[in-house]
Amino acid sequence: MKFFLFANKLLLASLSATFLLQACHTTSDKGNDYYTATDFYKVKKIDVHAHVLIDRPDMVEQAKKDNFILISLNTEVPGEPPVDSQQYYILQLRHNFPNDLYYVSAFETATINEPGWSDKQLAYLKKSFDSGALGIKVWKNIGMTIKDKDSNFIMIDNPVFDPIFNYLEQNNIPVIGHIGEPKNCWLPLNEMTTNNDRNYFKGHPEYHMYLHPEYPSYDSIIKARDHLLEKHPKLKFIGAHLGSLEWDVDEIAKRLDKFPNMSVEPAERWGQIQYQTLTNWQKVHDFFIKYQDRIMYGTDLGQEAPDNGDSVKAKAHTIWLRDWEYLTTGDSLQSPFVNQKFKGLQLPKEVIDKIYYKNAEKWYFNKKSQ
Ligand SMILES: [Zn+2]
Repeated sequence: MKFFLFANKLLLASLSATFLLQACHTTSDKGNDYYTATDFYKVKKIDVHAHVLIDRPDMVEQAKKDNFILISLNTEVPGEPPVDSQQYYILQLRHNFPNDLYYVSAFETATINEPGWSDKQLAYLKKSFDSGALGIKVWKNIGMTIKDKDSNFIMIDNPVFDPIFNYLEQNNIPVIGHIGEPKNCWLPLNEMTTNNDRNYFKGHPEYHMYLHPEYPSYDSIIKARDHLLEKHPKLKFIGAHLGSLEWDVDEIAKRLDKFPNMSVEPAERWGQIQYQTLTNWQKVHDFFIKYQDRIMYGTDLGQEAPDNGDSVKAKAHTIWLRDWEYLTTGDSLQSPFVNQKFKGLQLPKEVIDKIYYKNAEKWYFNKKSQ
């Protein structure tokens, strides 16, 4: 009996030694599975949602410093240079930064009710692709601003766009679509989930759809976008701003399950993701793990003519670092978007590599492998 006890003790001692060794081993493996905040500089990254709207190099210079490649999206925004000028500026910059700055083109909609519009725009886009454009961007003016001759809103599934989407679908050219707005836009100010939306719509009642029931509803805009993807099942579609489904990762998941050629990027909607992290960290974390092949990193950062170069650089650097911490570490973090502290998602290295680089490589750069 004594011997047995002694032997048992030995066994226990050897078991706990093994356990400790395994535990040490696991810990050190774990250490290698995750990036730290300081790895930010050495990991190659792509920001798939930027807007360089002038031929000045500050934004791209900062991107190079922080190991980012930029994809700049030509976008038909009132008050900004027309889309062909935006394209011109990017092409100028690309002479000096051919491997640091890329772009997607966009059609103009001012003449959409004129005969031959689709053919003319498609010809313009084909020239863009010859010049190096990686795809096209479509914007929220479709579904919220532009109207047909009978004063009906033109939605994204309107047949006028079919020749363009057919061509892109057949040639495996991606579309990045900012269609609609965050759902907060259709809610009263006190029901909005994030500070940035609340402040923005408080200052811009003209864009606050809750006050404008005469405009298309949130649901009708999302439905038209989903219908576009049903009509063009092979279209490579990147849902900008999380496909305007930012308010619930389950809603994004439903679309990703339904549309295998859809992916998303969270530019300017990181606050909504952080808001959901506050109440259900695990759900948000698991969403990023499950859809690790369908999520890309994007910010909406950019540079316009009046911007001060140093401010552009400082802002980009701060935001890129902040998002990196949120995605790679499990630290307790703060952001201007939500009022409480939240925990970083601490995604494994291989997931981070996909979100920050490999997915964009696949969706934007390798036309045949998708
Ligand atoms: Zn944007």
